[in-house]
Amino acid sequence: MKDERRASIRLFFALWPDAAARTALLEARDGAMQDARPTHPDDLHLTLVFIGDVELDRLGCIEAAADDVVLDGFELMLEQLETWPRQRLLVASPGEPPPALFNLLSQLQQNLLPCGIQPEPRSFRPHVTLARKAPKIQRRVLNIPWPAREFVLVRSGVGGGSNGGGYQVLRAWPLD
Ligand code: ATP
Ligand code: MG
Repeated sequence: MKDERRASIRLFFALWPDAAARTALLEARDGAMQDARPTHPDDLHLTLVFIGDVELDRLGCIEAAADDVVLDGFELMLEQLETWPRQRLLVASPGEPPPALFNLLSQLQQNLLPCGIQPEPRSFRPHVTLARKAPKIQRRVLNIPWPAREFVLVRSGVGGGSNGGGYQVLRAWPLD
């Protein structure tokens, strides 16, 4: 297949919740949601860097960018549940994100520059989208620990992961 390398895929780097954090997120959501469109349980994530559509031949450079990250694992705490009315999202987010989260983000952004991937101009608002088309709710307090021990490269737009989710985790890098 001569043109295979020109094929494009849609990618992003993210943190993926462990089973305990996922369960807690689903419980928090179920207590808050009416009439919204829930994120598939297997799709819950916190986006670090959205890459978007890239040609397949840039995958090696993108993986090398992740290989070069040097960072220990860290503790994230999701402390609030709220709606973002403009986007109509129900989201969980950390109150004050730990510096390590920004460190991870900036290392990835720096390392991706040689791949021709520029940082998003909009500011980073770490969050987990729990549902879309969500009616406005009062902000609630959460207490969901999320031990970040790895970050992952994800393909989106796959339309049906192994368990019905729309994302496919391509690879994980340990934080240690
Ligand atoms: P769809 O767009 O098909 O509804 P999706 O939004 O889940 O599906 P993507 O658009 O590929 O899938 O986005 C993947 C992740 O990256 C999501 O967490 C999304 O919020 C985030 N994202 C998408 N576009 C951007 C962007 N321009 N800047 C920052 N993050 C983005
Ligand atoms: Mg999108």
